[in-house]
Amino acid sequence: MLGKLATWLRISGYDTVYIGDLNLNNRNKEDTFILKSFRDRIVLTRDRELYRRCLGAGRDAVFVNSDIVLEQLKELEKRGVEFKIVMDRCSVCNGLLRKPTDEEIRKVLEREGISEDLKERYELWYCKRCEKLYWMGSHWRNMVKFLEKVKGNR
Ligand SMILES: [Zn+2]
Repeated sequence: MLGKLATWLRISGYDTVYIGDLNLNNRNKEDTFILKSFRDRIVLTRDRELYRRCLGAGRDAVFVNSDIVLEQLKELEKRGVEFKIVMDRCSVCNGLLRKPTDEEIRKVLEREGISEDLKERYELWYCKRCEKLYWMGSHWRNMVKFLEKVKGNR
């Protein structure tokens, strides 16, 4: 339900577990799991019942009002979360990013069928856990534009 928000939290450097990534495949199982696990984490949810249960269990929790990602980011910024592109964490798996080796770059380019010499043109980051390569391409400009919208109404 909050997958895109989770992605943005990771892009901004926040250590984020997304319950949908854990493949529990059952809402009741998910809720029970959230309540019992990751006790040092803050629970973000759009589910009022889960929010209420979290508070009852003494957990830190935030009820996210909007179902629109842009509005969700604005809500959290008001609570002190800072959204920015920091490239510390993989937006897909939450793993830590680092500079890739030449061999790692070669493997990703081959796998993705990319012939462009990314290393010459861009600064690169690599997630060892899911073997994903990041660079400042067109996707990057879209992210920057989106963040400008988030900050726009201040
Ligand atoms: Zn990753």
